[in-house]
Amino acid sequence: MKAEPLKDFSRLCVHTITTKRWELEEAIDRYAEADVSGITVWRQWLDGRDPAGAGERIRAAGLEVVSLCRGGFYPALEEKSREEAIKDNKQAIEDAAAMGAPLVVLVCGAIIGQSLVESRKQITDGIAATLPLAESLGVKLAIEPLHPMYADDRSAINTLASANDVCDELSHPLVGIAFDVYHLWWDPDLAAQTKRTAEANRLFAYHACDWMTPTTDLLNDRGLMGEGCIDLRAIRGMVEGAGFDGMIEVEVFSNRWWEKPTEEFLQAIKQSYLNHT
Ligand code: ZN
Repeated sequence: MKAEPLKDFSRLCVHTITTKRWELEEAIDRYAEADVSGITVWRQWLDGRDPAGAGERIRAAGLEVVSLCRGGFYPALEEKSREEAIKDNKQAIEDAAAMGAPLVVLVCGAIIGQSLVESRKQITDGIAATLPLAESLGVKLAIEPLHPMYADDRSAINTLASANDVCDELSHPLVGIAFDVYHLWWDPDLAAQTKRTAEANRLFAYHACDWMTPTTDLLNDRGLMGEGCIDLRAIRGMVEGAGFDGMIEVEVFSNRWWEKPTEEFLQAIKQSYLNHT
């Protein structure tokens, strides 16, 4: 069943990379002025900043810290590199805890020259190695399945089923899934796998944007909701029907939009949130 239109911005969260020309402080102020309710902070936005201070500033502006984006990239040919990845993920978990972010989003990684099966094993082992720390700090970890066009070097986890399989293997209440419509909209098993995700209490996050035709850049040509072919109301109806009532996170990487003034982009995000999401 299709979801009803959203009537206010109480569930609108924006990723700092969406408004990438704004530094963290400017993003916080502008989001708050615009009635945006939540912020997902990408790690680059913490460079040179104290995560605890950033979290305080976000909350003081009346915004909710929704997640820290992103950890992951576990697979590597060399063991030393895999250990470094685990160390980096531990840092992300510590930063999230200091900032007061309940969740770290994981782009799990893949490596040319290594099978996807082996990469999935390394992803599972990598997440497992960070779980004691996540547990001690109470930080959730969300595997974000990526569209198969990224299976070469960004993620060996490309469907909701595959993400659920890794979650089943780890079987831990802090390990769940970030559901991004851009990566999952095409999947014929989406309804069944969404149900499986929700029933296991692991639907941790929901990311929205749109799929452009033709897509001119594999990374940075996402559409604003309503510009592309994704049936956003049907997918939101699916996740909400399964019990999800969390933030709707606008995550749009777009060279086209990034050329325009960021304030104009933010206003367009709000309109497309109400009209198409
Ligand atoms: Zn996403």
